[in-house]
Amino acid sequence: MSLLRRLLDVIYPPRCLICREFLPTDSGDESGAPRFLCHPCLSRFRPIVPPLCPVCGRPFPAPGGEDHLCEACLKHPPAYEATRAPYRFEGPLMEAIHRFKYGGNPSIAHSLGPLLAGFARTWLAEDEDRVIMPVPLHPKRLRERGFNQSLLLARHVARELETEVDFLSLRRVRYTPPQTTLPKEARRKNVRGAFQLHNPGPYKGKSVLLVDDVATTGNTLNECARALTRSGCRKVRCLVLARTMGQDRHGHPPSKDQGPGRD
Ligand SMILES: [Zn+2]
Ligand SMILES: [Zn+2]
Repeated sequence: MSLLRRLLDVIYPPRCLICREFLPTDSGDESGAPRFLCHPCLSRFRPIVPPLCPVCGRPFPAPGGEDHLCEACLKHPPAYEATRAPYRFEGPLMEAIHRFKYGGNPSIAHSLGPLLAGFARTWLAEDEDRVIMPVPLHPKRLRERGFNQSLLLARHVARELETEVDFLSLRRVRYTPPQTTLPKEARRKNVRGAFQLHNPGPYKGKSVLLVDDVATTGNTLNECARALTRSGCRKVRCLVLARTMGQDRHGHPPSKDQGPGRD
């Protein structure tokens, strides 16, 4: 730890961004990057557990039982091969992601990125020739926010998987209102045709790992995957830090019924 960091820690002792508790003085990772969340808050992130749909990764509400396709993926197979998220979008993690995205606090990626990277390592066990792409922001939104939160997460994943990140080729070519501001039925139309793969040549036949912070209905990921497969990418998988437990891509709420084909 640098002398300046030590001095700053004495003057402004670092606090957890969620609960405001003081962080231990040795908090930080091997690279020397400071941490922003305390262990009690991190331990309250709720993991997503099986049974889940092997395609969209949405968990079924009732515990126990086998993984099986959900109704939405059976009826309307998405353009991606699979999506996975380690956590539910709720509680302290929801607050951390809000502060990360809207609180002008890109440094939180130092706490959240390694969690996603560790999950990626267990999910994508096999070595595969793939490229990582973050879900892009429209240039207008990028200017407003100053950073793309998905790219910051993707860099941690790329380091863990020893893969390159391409954050320029997949582009958001249409400015769209945030998905969260729209009724569920309008979300699919909102992102339709919003993405394009620029200069697709090098990606013909390639595998792409898309990275995003949160999945709600999955429409954004599906639309990115459509743009990629249309341009010749062989396979698209999606990795997100958290997903909501609400509606699927077609606006259906999760069912309490545990039987196959329900979501
Ligand atoms: Zn805390
Ligand atoms: Zn599904």
